[in-house]
Amino acid sequence: MKRKYEGETVDVVIVGAGAAGGVLAKELSEAGMRVVVLEAGPWRDPQHDFASDELAMQQLGWQDTRIVDGADPLQMGHNNCGKGVGGGTVHFTGVFLRFHETDFNAKSLDGVGEDWPIGYADLAPYYDKVEKEIAVSGPKHYPWGSFHGPYPYPERDPISLNAQLFAKGCEKLGIRWVVSPLAILSAPFEDRPPCINRGFCTQGCMPNAKFSTLIVHIPKAIQAGAEVLPDCMVTQVNMGKDGRATGVTFVHNGTAYEQRAKLVIISAYAVETPRLLLNSANAQFPNGLANRSGWVGKAFMTHSSNDVYARFDHDVRLYKGTPVLATTQDFYHLSGEVARGYTLHAHGVRPLSFAKGISKSDGNRPVWGSKLHEAMLDYNAYARITMVGEVLPSPDNTVTLCDEKDLNGMPRAKVTFSYGDNDKLLIDHAVSTMKGILQAAGGKPEFVVPDTAHLMGGCRMGSDPDSSVVNSYGQTHDIPNLFVCDASIFVTSGAGNPTNTVMALASRTADYIKKRASRMEL
Ligand SMILES: Cc1cc2nc3c(=O)[nH]c(=O)nc-3n(C[C@H](O)[C@H](O)[C@H](O)COP(=O)(O)OP(=O)(O)OC[C@H]3O[C@@H](n4cnc5c(N)ncnc54)[C@H](O)[C@@H]3O)c2cc1C
Ligand code: SF4
Repeated sequence: MKRKYEGETVDVVIVGAGAAGGVLAKELSEAGMRVVVLEAGPWRDPQHDFASDELAMQQLGWQDTRIVDGADPLQMGHNNCGKGVGGGTVHFTGVFLRFHETDFNAKSLDGVGEDWPIGYADLAPYYDKVEKEIAVSGPKHYPWGSFHGPYPYPERDPISLNAQLFAKGCEKLGIRWVVSPLAILSAPFEDRPPCINRGFCTQGCMPNAKFSTLIVHIPKAIQAGAEVLPDCMVTQVNMGKDGRATGVTFVHNGTAYEQRAKLVIISAYAVETPRLLLNSANAQFPNGLANRSGWVGKAFMTHSSNDVYARFDHDVRLYKGTPVLATTQDFYHLSGEVARGYTLHAHGVRPLSFAKGISKSDGNRPVWGSKLHEAMLDYNAYARITMVGEVLPSPDNTVTLCDEKDLNGMPRAKVTFSYGDNDKLLIDHAVSTMKGILQAAGGKPEFVVPDTAHLMGGCRMGSDPDSSVVNSYGQTHDIPNLFVCDASIFVTSGAGNPTNTVMALASRTADYIKKRASRMEL
């Protein structure tokens, strides 16, 4: 394999070219650092490699086997992790929300979960920066949280019929709604065209209207001198006798290579990051790297993401347009019986996901065989709302290593997940609100589909090295030149889509590294 920095020690090696890895690669290479990015998956060209085909594009997800466990085992694969340059941003839906002030102090406010070591104000300038950099479209006035707009680009227009029905139902019930903030262009930006509403966002967006680090940050990083190597699976973080990281080992086409670096950053997402740290155990760190606290792989989280489908007596056509075009956060911070809260999105869906979803529905009508066929014939008449519900962190929800190994000889990850009592109450609350909105819009709720979305946690940040893995900049407490920067450092899951926060944290980490490196402090 041809390598720009073969045999050399670079300034920074980044594991994973996803949401966080892409931002870090751009920021650090533009600051003049010599950066190598190693990405386990392929490098795709949107115009050649993305197909308007729901089934074929499942390959954008991480399909390698993981073992799942717990009372509510998670479904792994396309529905949670990306694999390839751009990571999860290649197949994400583009909903681009900020966390609220209340997300950073769950314990102080509500006596549940944990407090983050930072507050909203620490991230605000980075949210501003990321949103401007990718021209997020959104409303002039955003009613919830600490940021009230305007967004850099105007909100999307027109909105789908599914979103219009959501709006109608909300208005009838006195619930506020907005056109969703999206990392999808509403007008031309840089060399990219605005969205043409083809609705294949989770299949990769062939026209490049949807942001991804594949098309935005990685090309800029390369222009600034970074080397990005696809199809390179990192299997080990290498350590020196002095207790500092010396680089990583990675496998390309069955051959192992080493990349030496002064600084190692792991941005491999919430399952693969703990897996890599645990698999890098050595005599000095027998329980895995950065795991003196025992918290690597613990307090792993997802969002509850149940869907409600209602049948209308006219066409809705859920395949039309960007899937999410209308949102409410009126239930973001509940009080009373249920702690924390949720966001609701009008959420379009393509036929395959519709069929897969309703076949798992927990209504009183099992949807198989002729019933599934019947429902599919009426696909055009269904509307859908999806929740993004906060799931509280629990030390019993974990990523661990199992005995079974993958083709590189690396132990597979075992992901254990069970909902807590509050998580279940919150789902019930949201399902009842979703049914109410659809009914108010004139629909008949028929299917409730249990689902989850977005992985977070497993290497949480904190000020106390005994109960967290990294500080608020992603620097591991145990190894000063080893950083973790991705969704795994979240302390709580929040009640909104997480990628804006992943990228804002990465931008903040990049600033920290630039400052400390210039003073030779890393
Ligand atoms: C269908 C779907 C829709 C979504 N929609 C939204 C949305 O609308 N809004 C939102 O905010 N979020 C959304 N998300 C979540 C979003 O994708 C993630 O929050 C985000 O991508 C996480 O960023 P990350 O940097 O932590 O990891 P990723 O973006 O997943 O990047 C990790 C990268 O590391 C690579 N990697 C892993 N292990 C190794 C290794 N050992 N060696 C080398 N490389 C490795 C992976 O291949 C991957 O490319 C969605 C997710 C899915 C699945
Ligand atoms: S709807 Fe817009 S963002 Fe989604 S795939 Fe089509 S052009 Fe891209």
